[in-house]
Amino acid sequence: MGLVKWLGLNPTRTLLNQSRFLGMIAVALPVALAGCGRSPQQLPDIRPTVKVSTPESPGMYHIVQPGQTLWSISQSYGVTVEELARVNNIEDPSRLLVNRRLLIPRTGASEWAWPVPGGEILAPFGERRSDHRHTGLDIRGQDGQAVLAVRSGRVLYSSTMRDYGKTVIVDHGDGLSSLYAHNSKLLVNKGQRVQRGQPIARIGRTGNATTEHCHFEIRRGETPVDPLLYLRPVSH
Ligand SMILES: [Zn+2]
Repeated sequence: MGLVKWLGLNPTRTLLNQSRFLGMIAVALPVALAGCGRSPQQLPDIRPTVKVSTPESPGMYHIVQPGQTLWSISQSYGVTVEELARVNNIEDPSRLLVNRRLLIPRTGASEWAWPVPGGEILAPFGERRSDHRHTGLDIRGQDGQAVLAVRSGRVLYSSTMRDYGKTVIVDHGDGLSSLYAHNSKLLVNKGQRVQRGQPIARIGRTGNATTEHCHFEIRRGETPVDPLLYLRPVSH
């Protein structure tokens, strides 16, 4: 039963999620070239090794591999075991079958704000570039528009980072951090506490950017992950 049963009980929600995702891709593709175009060799010194995490399907499903447990999968996606078990209708987490298709819920979405109010996605996470994959989302914004902290935390970095331009990194205290690049102005200082929704910078095109936008990343430790695992692209 499992996933099939869950889907059967929630057909509308699943269809909505899929159509929303396809819609975002359709919007993102024609303007993908408008975003930033850095290469891994040009990443700042404080993050010398950046690996791009590429789930089986962006924010939707995970295929269970040999040796994986519900706990290890929950850790790698930043969701709780309880939530994974609930949405996949798993009664006994110790008996997880290899090759099972798990729905990865976008839990915690209510805890996270969208960093640029009204800003649509210009380029998705994981998009193929010439020699690497895109490590974040490019989100459109107007020059000078406020960039908001997506979640409360402490400012880990607020300065200029080569191709990222004027950049803020917020440490959320649970192994996750968020990064906001290409700003025209920085509004916070290193060490400062910030709240969800607080303006921390202003949109710009500093660093390697061809248009005004926010290059937004969520990192689990040192590894950028798809922000859409955590945030919903809302326009308010
Ligand atoms: Zn970017």
